[in-house]
Amino acid sequence: MTTPDVGFSPEAARRDIPILHRTVNGHPLVWLDNGATTQKPRQVIEALTAFYACANSNIHRGAHTMAREATEMYEAGRATVARFLGAPSPESIVFVRGTTEAINLVAQSWGRADLGPGDDILVPVLEHHANIVPWQRVAEQTRARVVPVPLRPDGSIDQDAYADLLSMRTRLVVISHASNVLGTVPPVREMTALAHRYQARVLVDGAQAVAHFPVDVTDLDADFYTFSGHKIYAPTGIGALYAKPEILEAMAPWQAGGNMIESVSFDRTTYAPVPHRFEAGTGHISGVAGLLAALDWLTAFDRTAVADYETRLTAYAQQALAQVPGLELLGPAAGRIGVLTFTLPGHTPGEIADRLDGDGIAVRAGHHCAQPALAHYGLDSAARASLALYNTREEVDRLVASLLELQAA
Ligand SMILES: *Cc1c(COP(=O)(O)O)cnc(C)c1O
Repeated sequence: MTTPDVGFSPEAARRDIPILHRTVNGHPLVWLDNGATTQKPRQVIEALTAFYACANSNIHRGAHTMAREATEMYEAGRATVARFLGAPSPESIVFVRGTTEAINLVAQSWGRADLGPGDDILVPVLEHHANIVPWQRVAEQTRARVVPVPLRPDGSIDQDAYADLLSMRTRLVVISHASNVLGTVPPVREMTALAHRYQARVLVDGAQAVAHFPVDVTDLDADFYTFSGHKIYAPTGIGALYAKPEILEAMAPWQAGGNMIESVSFDRTTYAPVPHRFEAGTGHISGVAGLLAALDWLTAFDRTAVADYETRLTAYAQQALAQVPGLELLGPAAGRIGVLTFTLPGHTPGEIADRLDGDGIAVRAGHHCAQPALAHYGLDSAARASLALYNTREEVDRLVASLLELQAA
């Protein structure tokens, strides 16, 4: 682990992550696809192995030692997520598959009941499809309206337009805490306070944010907050939804079945208390063990030092990419996370990703599940390099060297 007084060194993180030491196409791997998923520390991999080797059991039901142990671990995971997000209580955390499932849960449970004809859902243009399409579906189902909030050319949300669009018809505002295509970090706290003046609820999509900077849902005053484990060094298939206790308490179940009931009969079925009411069926128990290990791993570093390191690395990468002739970085807004989406004249994003892959460098090419954000720049596809705490300046230099070679060829 790092010693806090010397800040943060990416080497401390790299040592823990086995996959970063493999080669791809004969070159040491440079993983710059962290916006899609992050690589896993040995501590997370070992937590999964240990669970299946020594502790595997279903939870809540079954009065035996291992069921009790698995339940304790699962609930300790919930308490860890609550602390990690600054949530008031573990009961305000629902385990889900990830951000997508969390948003669908809110749309279909809260939205189905609380939205109606003529209600507005404000959705900034830069949102991930996971934070657009569930709202379009529930809008169809309830005859509410999805209203896009426009962007400025630099990739920031147009705050004047946002203030103008808010009205007593606004029932919900959704905002990503950091954009997966532009890296923009909107003023979520201020936007939330403004929405609350109109009694609107606010859902914050934290999928890209939580790995990069400390989050406090109480300070943000968010009504809902979501994230995916796999983007924060944990396994796929596990994530969390935070909702304010009084909101969660009033929400109807979404999926139904085992684990979410109190008693079942053909005359009358009653539901378990929150948050179990929202966790029908057997969950991703080993995933919670992995998530717990990932959050323990990340929070053992000085998170402010990690965020400072990533900010410096992002600034370095922006300057380095600017040396590539013709390269255009989308959304140069200040205060961004390390998500660098770009185009290079004469080369399609697919060609760029292929070329970099040949050099062992993984970047993403495509629409990044944010077609409206790309359309804002007149594009349907772009290349994206996204940074994590374990990336280094040397890796950024290798990215730039490959791009320069591609440009010269
Ligand atoms: C990745 C991502 C999602 C979707 O997350 P899943 O893990 O695929 O459910 C939603 N929003 C943002 C901003 C993302 O980056």
